[in-house]
Amino acid sequence: MKTCSRCDNPVDLADKYCGSCGINLAAQAGNESPLTTLQSLKVSDIRFNLGVVYLKAGKFAQAIATFGEILEKDPENLQVRGMYEQALKTLNNTNSDTES
Ligand SMILES: [Zn+2]
Repeated sequence: MKTCSRCDNPVDLADKYCGSCGINLAAQAGNESPLTTLQSLKVSDIRFNLGVVYLKAGKFAQAIATFGEILEKDPENLQVRGMYEQALKTLNNTNSDTES
């Protein structure tokens, strides 16, 4: 037996909807959707992961722009700063990168 997360009404495990408030129980407890997990991530984490993806793909200009955005809001983030400087250094050493 579990209880509804909204109204605390006892609900059966087999129930799809709360008998008291009517919310969709299947969308809640237990099976957390990927969307919920994504939303719980901090935006800066998402931006950071994006920057890393750019870096690995060789898109250094995009990586620098992405890390730069994070650093504007979070200048003390040493992990981001490290990646930012690495991307800058790599870009300066790569003259063949004409992609904009
Ligand atoms: Zn309920």
